[in-house]
Amino acid sequence: MRIGIIGAGQLGQMLGFAARSLDVECTFLDPSDQPPAAVCGDVIQRPFDDPTALDELAATCDVVTYEFENVPVEALHRIEDKVAIYPPASALQHSQDRLAEKQLFEQLGIPLPGYEVIDTREDLDTAVDKLGLPLVIKTRRLGYDGKGQFVIREQSDIDRAWETLGGNDLIAEQWVPFDYEVSCIGVRNPDGDVVIYPLSHNVHEGGILRTSRSPVEAPGLSVTAERYVQTMLEHLDYVGTLALELFVCGEDLLANEFAPRVHNSGHWSIEGSETSQFENHLRAILNRPLGSTASIGHAGMVNLIGEIPAAAREIDDTHIHDYGKSPRPGRKLGHITVVTDSAEARDKFLDTVHRTVTQSSP
Ligand code: AMP
Repeated sequence: MRIGIIGAGQLGQMLGFAARSLDVECTFLDPSDQPPAAVCGDVIQRPFDDPTALDELAATCDVVTYEFENVPVEALHRIEDKVAIYPPASALQHSQDRLAEKQLFEQLGIPLPGYEVIDTREDLDTAVDKLGLPLVIKTRRLGYDGKGQFVIREQSDIDRAWETLGGNDLIAEQWVPFDYEVSCIGVRNPDGDVVIYPLSHNVHEGGILRTSRSPVEAPGLSVTAERYVQTMLEHLDYVGTLALELFVCGEDLLANEFAPRVHNSGHWSIEGSETSQFENHLRAILNRPLGSTASIGHAGMVNLIGEIPAAAREIDDTHIHDYGKSPRPGRKLGHITVVTDSAEARDKFLDTVHRTVTQSSP
């Protein structure tokens, strides 16, 4: 059994490690030289939309998946008659355009922050009138980790926002004074079986995920988030792992965005769950029974961003994952997971790890 994976970054690497435990081989498609996933499979070093490479993937693999959402949808269409591709192209398409994504949430009755489509400078002024300040403008496509965003706090920011992002297809979004952020990760296989992980509580800094912890002691919110994820999985006739990111406002949840793939906020599941999100993604696309998503203790994860300080490798009782990438400011190079017996112990330990990692950074 061989799986084709478009993209060979750290998500591909962790999928590749999970594939080993299922006795499955992987072939990756990625243009980069020595990508992280090269340690766990063959890499076809070609662009993501290279027709010959895609055909080779289709001809040699039993099923194809992808590890990031900016894969050109046409690449999937090229080979979808030759090999099963999961998650479905329609999910990928929705996640690539913030407007389509928001329209999907609306269609499915999933609450979301107020927003306006911005095509012209006048549209931006209208959005400020309608939504109030602060608001955030975001490029509709190709934004990630807070990139392609501008927060307008006062009238005097509007010109600069337009100079920075005008010319792109944009949306303006109400600034949400959330209590905290969560994500809900679900998995569905072709038989329609669904499993859902306990909520993760996520902290972002500068738009980049810093820490996740799970489970979250919020039964009411969990039920609601699970309902939203279940609805999305069924509506999209989804196969694989899907992550829905939400803002918590009191007892309410507002959808921020979703990813049609394994997600950074679920990395804790490698050590903190009976079945990791990576293994369950593979089980789903291989149409195998899904594994239990029950937590093993209380898990927390700290991302290693920009560099991996020596001190990060010396903290006892943690699991360090080094993706093997070269250091660069703002780049996700690895993560550290802790698993403890109680939420209090986890939170304390996670704070220590976070402090050790960030304070020893230059
Ligand atoms: P995104 O790339 O849209 O997920 O944004 C990255 C992070 O920026 C989010 O996880 C939030 O922490 C913050 N953010 C994005 N949009 C909003 C918003 N409308 N209101 C408040 N914070 C936001």
